[in-house]
Amino acid sequence: MAPPQGPRAPLEFGGPLGAAALMLLLPATMFHLLLAARSGPARLLGPPPYLPGLEMLWSPWALFLCLAWLGLQAALYLLPARKVAEGQELKDKRRLLYPINALVATLCIREVVGVTLQKPRFQPNGLGQGFQALVLTALLVGLGVLARLPLGALPEMLLPLAFSATLIAFVGSLLLYLKALVAPASALAPGGNSGNPVYDFFLGRELNPRICSFDFKYFCELRPGLIGWVLINLALLMQEAELRGSPSLAMWLVNGFQLLYVGDALWHEEAVLTTMDIIHDGFGFMLAFGDLAWVPFTYSLQAQFLLYHPQPLGLPGASVICLINAVGYYIFRGANSQKNTFRKNPSDPRVADLETIPTATGRQLLVSGWWGMVRHPNYLGDLIMALAWSLPCGVSHLLPYFYLLYFTALLVHREARDEQQCLQKYGLAWHEYCRRVPYRIMPYVY
Ligand code: NDP
Repeated sequence: MAPPQGPRAPLEFGGPLGAAALMLLLPATMFHLLLAARSGPARLLGPPPYLPGLEMLWSPWALFLCLAWLGLQAALYLLPARKVAEGQELKDKRRLLYPINALVATLCIREVVGVTLQKPRFQPNGLGQGFQALVLTALLVGLGVLARLPLGALPEMLLPLAFSATLIAFVGSLLLYLKALVAPASALAPGGNSGNPVYDFFLGRELNPRICSFDFKYFCELRPGLIGWVLINLALLMQEAELRGSPSLAMWLVNGFQLLYVGDALWHEEAVLTTMDIIHDGFGFMLAFGDLAWVPFTYSLQAQFLLYHPQPLGLPGASVICLINAVGYYIFRGANSQKNTFRKNPSDPRVADLETIPTATGRQLLVSGWWGMVRHPNYLGDLIMALAWSLPCGVSHLLPYFYLLYFTALLVHREARDEQQCLQKYGLAWHEYCRRVPYRIMPYVY
């Protein structure tokens, strides 16, 4: 077993007890939401409508479907890559290489019109692309639907599918934990090597677990869960069309907004390389469960709610909601792209004019543009979009607002974690940044 090196990071999430509680609470909440969404009263608070027996949760067929889904996404990941990006510098000064978005169709068009393709500096065998995975999955699903694949049956299977995804996340995290026991100290995440097995299992010991060039965290972050989420949404839309003759406007909006979000994440998949999940957090139960179970089965809550509780929505209301989503998206995309461009190349003409603060590490902090407005403008945009996703569900129930409430708590906590890490990294320069940009997420409020 590799001994941990250097001072240990302070424990997060309430230490081992908090980690153990979250490992029970998160799956329990997911099952509560799944049951509540299809129940008449659709209550967010209070006990679940009933306690499902094992026969309702366990289904070998559901496990097979989850494994087949992971296999399909892994196969798409392994398609030959056209572009490879470098990750952030690691403790041992290495940079890992990641396959990034390069839609085959786009590249073919560029080739036809004579635009020179960006030649990857290094092209390992067997790597694929994110947006391409979404498009190819959509094509396969489209063909399946034409061949009478009963996609509308998926909503009836959400409970056993979520159970199987949780099992896979648990077993996968256990294997990752064991793998990390023989990993070199330089490969361990800053936070997940406390020595407490429960805490380390939850947070993840190894930063970037890989087998050859297959990066488990990078794969899970953007592909099976995110694409699975929009597939579940689509199945709910089709089921609604079967039940009521056509999908409701509210269902179209929820599907459209969330497809935009997922498509955007996969299109800009390179940006994930500078996020906290990739550069700081190990790959343990927290991310594995989050990516594989929590995201597809709880983020589709609004569409689940709408299937069982149709809501009237007129064009004026829909237009206002679209506007709110557009404003959120504009801030979210602008902020994330600005930071990503700056981190990749501070002299890029799109960011070269922005004001910066130097830090002792040699890296700079943006202090104008989006990052001069608040310290986490990308969170603000994300929260505005979260509101737009819940509004089509009306105001009669609190349940579809779960995502907004949970996401606010998550981002407030995440922001505090990030501040702590930035303070450790940048010291006085971070204090100066906080002085110049006093609000964290919402100008004049927080
Ligand atoms: P960020 O993308 O916000 O990255 C934080 C890092 O950015 C810091 O650690 C620091 O790293 C760098 N940074 C901070 N301030 C500045 C500055 N002024 N100038 C330059 N660099 C700065 O973190 P997240 O990973 O939390 O979020 C990424 C996106 O993912 C967000 O849009 C978020 O809303 C979204 N998200 C969505 C979730 C979901 O479930 N839907 C869950 C979590 C996040 P360094 O200096 O080392 O580069």
